[in-house]
Amino acid sequence: MIDSHCHLDIMGGEVDAAVAAARAAGVRRLVTVGVDLPTSRWQAQVAAGHPDVYAAVAIHPNEAADGVDEETFTEIAELAAAPKVRAVGETGLDYYRTPPERHAAQQDSFRRHIAIAKQAGRTLMIHDREAHEDTLRILVEEGAPERVVFHAFSGDEAMAKVCADAGYVMSFAGNVTFNNAQRLRDAAAVAPRDLLLVETDAPFLTPVPWRGRPNGPYLIPLTLRALATARGEDVDTLASAIAATSERMFGPW
Ligand SMILES: [Zn+2]
Repeated sequence: MIDSHCHLDIMGGEVDAAVAAARAAGVRRLVTVGVDLPTSRWQAQVAAGHPDVYAAVAIHPNEAADGVDEETFTEIAELAAAPKVRAVGETGLDYYRTPPERHAAQQDSFRRHIAIAKQAGRTLMIHDREAHEDTLRILVEEGAPERVVFHAFSGDEAMAKVCADAGYVMSFAGNVTFNNAQRLRDAAAVAPRDLLLVETDAPFLTPVPWRGRPNGPYLIPLTLRALATARGEDVDTLASAIAATSERMFGPW
């Protein structure tokens, strides 16, 4: 299995220990994700030193709401070209945290990251929180990159169908295991099998029954099983499809 989205830096502790714990649980590959320039540099460096770790680099929409300077975009583009950096993200829109007067800056940053992903030939990793319509609209306006992943997918069944038609990959996190997440499980049930990924977003979104404790990539199996149950599917069949999609999104390992 793969954890397609975690934050090894925010988890704290030793990277080697997190990778070993994941591996012991059958989670052999990780994508660790930056949210600003220092953390993006950090992820790129860690990925360069660990064969089973890949990196994503970007300025998170919540950071971008204050505006992003040119030199920052230039460095994100440089980092995105590194061999072990396989995605530009997390970028996108977050209207939950951002007041309307700062949406323009966030949207501008999202457009710039889409351009960087296309230029570098990298997968675009999207953070979309309470901003589904504008996220989908901007992707169409800019022309989506060849490979797009909605990280911690939070849409409903209708949005899953829109993403499926566009060929966007939906990555489900531990919140799909939550009691009150039936709407999300309904979305997971209609997503095509070859457009699915699983992730932890560690240290956040810890799956049941460990909700409330820090998350780690080693907990991916709980989310995988919940996803398979929601879809009425065999775990191994789903795991094989997800492994294939992860290679398509992030390259051979
Ligand atoms: Zn994240």
